[in-house]
Formats: sequence, C-alpha cells, structure tokens
Amino acid sequence: MAANEAPAPEGGRHAREEDGPTRQCVACRHRASARRLLRVAPGPRHEPVVDIYRRLPGRGVHVCATAGCLRKAVEKGGIGRGLKEPVRVDLDALCTFAAEGLVDSALKRLGIGRRNGRTHFGFDDVERTVAARRASLVVIAADASQRTATELRARAGHVGIPVVGGPAMAVLGAALGRGDVAVVCVEDPALAADVEWALRGAAALRAPQAGGAGGGGGGKRGGEKSPAAVESGSTGT
Ligand SMILES: [Zn+2]
Repeated sequence: MAANEAPAPEGGRHAREEDGPTRQCVACRHRASARRLLRVAPGPRHEPVVDIYRRLPGRGVHVCATAGCLRKAVEKGGIGRGLKEPVRVDLDALCTFAAEGLVDSALKRLGIGRRNGRTHFGFDDVERTVAARRASLVVIAADASQRTATELRARAGHVGIPVVGGPAMAVLGAALGRGDVAVVCVEDPALAADVEWALRGAAALRAPQAGGAGGGGGGKRGGEKSPAAVESGSTGT
C-alpha cells in the first residue's frame, strides 16, 4: 500500500549549504559556504567585530564558528593580516558576542518560520510533526524539563531528525510571540539548516577551550549525535 514513501530530502539541505560563494577559515583553512562561517569585519578603534549578518562594509575575514578557530585566528594574527590593519581583540568578548549574535539570528529565523506556519512549538505539536517525518530540526530549550528533552530526543532520533539545544524557554517563546516554549520544530529544510548551524555555532563558541588535553567533560550538553546509543552495560541473560 505504501505507494510513495519519499525518503527524507536530506540532499536538499546539503545542496543549500554549499550554495553561494565559498570562503576559507583563516585559522584552519577549512573552506565552506560563506553562510557557514563567521565574518569578522573591521570595527572602531581597531577592535574587529563579528558581522553576524554579513552586512558591514569593508574587508572581512572568515572564521569557523568555534572558539578554537576564533582563538587561533586571533593568536596567530590571521584576523589582522586579513583585515590589513593592526587589531586589538578581547577574545572572550568576541566569542560571547558571536554566540549571542548567532542565537539571535536563529531566533529571528524561527520567528519567520512561525509566520509561515512551518515552525511548530509545544510538545504535542512538535511530537506530531516529528512522527509524521515533516520536521527537519528539533530545538529544545536549555531549561526544558529532562523528561521533555529525553523523550523528544528519542523520538527525533528514531526518525533521523537532528536535535539541537536552544536558549531558555522564555527566550524561545518570546521569539515566537508566546510565553515559555520548551520545544520547537522546523519543517523547512533550508531554514532548519540555518537555525541548526547558528545554534551549534553558538554552543561551540561558548565551549570552554579544551586545548586537546582531556578533562573537558564538564557540562553535559552532549547527545548531539546519537544515531546508535551505545549500550556498554552487558545485560546478558
Ligand atoms: Zn576553522
């Protein structure tokens, strides 16, 4: 009876991500669509700014949206060289500003999606959309209940829909013109890709710099990729 079971349109997402001009991260040389890199632009008093919406005039430098690449770009002089001017950078402030800007951009996009009727919120509506495989991304508020988070992560994981952590419920809700909102899902694949990139970037910019050495196991924001939960305990019969 299942005449047309269309596979998840993940090709579309990737195609979109590669759209447009590509740029190279000055820190790690990774090449990506300009929309998937942070643009750093010249600022007043030789203090560069992260140009979230890529609209500031002047020469720009591109960097991966991670604290590691931003740090390397600052410390190795890549930003100053790229901007062709001496620069003064407060790295922590730059990372914080970039993270906040990315969250803000994600919220704006969620608001747009809401107006288009393709962003859903609240457990029941999200659950329905996920179960129908119409969702392209699930966003869970940072302060959502453990139960909500666990359950929706499992359901989304079951049908291969990515899940990303978002800001607090009050912030998420405000972007949608509501009160507290614990979970949101996005139907539109292109919109979902933008929101996912921005929120993952924000997390990566806030991540403490584990300089390679171990120990960075502090905050458990994990579970971003859990296609196959590894069962380490042998529950042999
Ligand atoms: Zn990089």
